[in-house]
Amino acid sequence: MFDIEKARNKGMDERTIKILQDINDNNQKEESCQRHEFEHEKINGLPKYRCKNCDCVVDVAFVKGYWRGLEHGKQ
Ligand SMILES: [Zn+2]
Repeated sequence: MFDIEKARNKGMDERTIKILQDINDNNQKEESCQRHEFEHEKINGLPKYRCKNCDCVVDVAFVKGYWRGLEHGKQ
């Protein structure tokens, strides 16, 4: 998690702080989700995945690892 207060104190500009805040929000959503159901989505031209349950956005590598984890958890 990014320390927004610290970033602000260091004189980071508001645009960057907004990005850090978005990342924090996304992490919080992702961590509190019971079970992700990812759907492929293009964001700013990049291939991403959005969870239907918590609305978090992650990249392909995260989804692959998540699915692999689920597969192994079944055994
Ligand atoms: Zn989710």
